[in-house]
Amino acid sequence: MRYAVAVVFFFLFSLQSHGQIKVPDAGDGWKSFVDSAISLVKETDSTSYALLTQNCKDVEFALTPYSTTRPPSTIVISVRDMRTQSVNNIACVLVHESYHLYLHKNRPELDPDEEEYLSYVHEYNFICKLRYAEDWLFKNVINMLLYHKSLIKD
Ligand SMILES: [Zn+2]
Repeated sequence: MRYAVAVVFFFLFSLQSHGQIKVPDAGDGWKSFVDSAISLVKETDSTSYALLTQNCKDVEFALTPYSTTRPPSTIVISVRDMRTQSVNNIACVLVHESYHLYLHKNRPELDPDEEEYLSYVHEYNFICKLRYAEDWLFKNVINMLLYHKSLIKD
């Protein structure tokens, strides 16, 4: 019994610990899905989790073709990304977009393609740490990384 109480307390504490990122209750279980993705980031990579919690204060959902940011501290997740129903993909979105927010704040002089390239490098490093990642996630990040690298002006 005491063990069960301890487990419940631990669970409540772990829920509270990323409570600073506000996720709207949009129905369809999206809030709990994004919360699971935040927990996955936390379990997978402490650096990515620190960057996420330091730079993102809230999440929004939108009918945009791609997920994006609304600086200074909002991550906009596209409905298209939510419909992949991949918690790994949403974790990657959070990791990638929070790096944009970080760069926006700390390196505002960056060329947009270089900013995109660096965000994909950060996402790639995160994917490599996942216990399991879908092939399409890997292919996408590598393709985008190479594409944006090719656009960077010398
Ligand atoms: Zn990006």
